[in-house]
Amino acid sequence: MPARLSGRAKDLKSSATVRLENLAKEMQRQGLDVLSFALGEPDFSTPPHICEAACKAIAEGKTTYTPAAGIPELREAIARTVERDYGYSCAPEQVVVSNGGKHALMNVWESILEPGDEVIIFAPYWVTYPAQIGLCGAKPRVVRTTIDNDFQPDLDEVRALVSERTAAILINSPSNPSGAVLERSIIEGLAEIAAEADCWIVSDEIYRHILFDGRQHFSPTMVGDEVRERVLLVDGASKAYSMTGWRIGWTVTPLEVAKAINRLQSQQASNPSSISQWAALAGLEGPQDCVRKMCAEFERRRDYIIPALADIPGVKIGKPAGAFYAFPEVSAHLDGHIVHKGKAVTNDDQLTTYLLEDALISTVPGSEFGLDGYIRLSFATSMDKIQEGVRRLRRGLVGG
Ligand code: PMP
Ligand code: GLU
Repeated sequence: MPARLSGRAKDLKSSATVRLENLAKEMQRQGLDVLSFALGEPDFSTPPHICEAACKAIAEGKTTYTPAAGIPELREAIARTVERDYGYSCAPEQVVVSNGGKHALMNVWESILEPGDEVIIFAPYWVTYPAQIGLCGAKPRVVRTTIDNDFQPDLDEVRALVSERTAAILINSPSNPSGAVLERSIIEGLAEIAAEADCWIVSDEIYRHILFDGRQHFSPTMVGDEVRERVLLVDGASKAYSMTGWRIGWTVTPLEVAKAINRLQSQQASNPSSISQWAALAGLEGPQDCVRKMCAEFERRRDYIIPALADIPGVKIGKPAGAFYAFPEVSAHLDGHIVHKGKAVTNDDQLTTYLLEDALISTVPGSEFGLDGYIRLSFATSMDKIQEGVRRLRRGLVGG
C-alpha cells in the first residue's frame, strides 16, 4: 500500500450482522443450501402504494437535491406522527431526515460526543452502537442484562457507571437483539439518572411498531416535558414499512441539536435520496394497516419459533415482546460436546461457525452483541424457512 490508513479505519470491525449475511449469500452462490437467519431485515416487499409514490416522484422530476434535512413535506409528516403517537407538539425543524436509522444515529453521536466521553449502553446491544461511539473517540460503558432478568437493566448498576464523562444513556426498546421491551418504571428510572447526570438520553425506537401481545410503545419522551428536552430520538422507515433498501431514517431532537445535525449532514452527506423521501412520505401518510399486518405476521412467527427453540435441549429462551429476533442462551452447548473440524466448540463464535459450515444455518454470535453464550436468529423470514432452520439447529446442537 503506497500510504497509510487512519487508525480509526484500520481498527474498525465491519458489522457482524452484515458480514455474516454476506458470508451466507456467498455460500449460497457456491451452490450450498444455506439458510440465513443473520440479517434483521423484513422479508416483505415494500407496500405498493409506497412504491407507486416513488415512481410518481421520478415521473414528476423530483430527482434533484433536496434541503439537507429533508423535504419539508416529510419533516412535517414526521412531526405530525410524533404528535399523534407520542402526544406532544413537535416542530418540523426538530426533525432531520437521514440515510437510514444507522446514519441518523451516527449524526446524533457526532453532534454530542467529544473524544473521551462515555455512553452507557446495555448488553446485549446492537452491534453498531459501540462501533459508532468508538468512531467519535468516545467509550461505551456497558451494563449487562441477561435472560434471567428479562434483559432489564439494574438501575443501581447504571447509576454506578455514571461519571463526569457520561454524555448519554442509550435506550433501544424494543431491543435488537433480545426483543425485550424496557419496563416503564425502568425508563422512568433511567430518565431520573440522566437528569442527575445531566446527560442526554439517546432513544433508538426503530422497532416501536413491532410490538406483540397488544403492547403499547412507551418512549422516554413520554415521561414528561423536562425529560423530553434531553431525549434524542432515532427512528426510520426501514423496519415499520419494510423499506430497508430505501435508506430513510430520522432524528427528532431539541432544536439546537437538530440544527447541529442539519449542519453536519449538509457537509457530510447532503440529503437522503429525494425519491425515497417521497416514498417514505407515502408510508407515513398512507393507510397504516400494512404496518399492522406485518407486525401480526412477525407475532405469528414468534409464536412458532420461541416454543420450537425452547423445546431443544440445552436452549433457554424467553418470549420477545417486540422486534423480530430470537436470542436464545445456548451455553449448555459450549461445554465441548460439539466438535467441529477436530476442535471442541467452547464459545458462541465457534458455535455459529460450526452451525454455518455443518448445519448450513447462519446465525450471529451473542458475543457480537456483548453477551457471550447466546446466538441471534432473525425471524423476519418465511415460516417454511423458520421451520427448516429450527430443525437444522436442533440437529446441529443435539444430533438426530
Ligand atoms: N437501530 C437498530 C437497533 C437496528 O437494528 C437497525 C437496523 N439496521 C437500525 C437502527 C438502523 O436501520 P436502518 O439504517 O436500516 O434504517
Ligand atoms: N439491523 C439489522 C440487523 O441487526 C440489519 C443489519 C445491520 O444494519 O446491522 O441485522
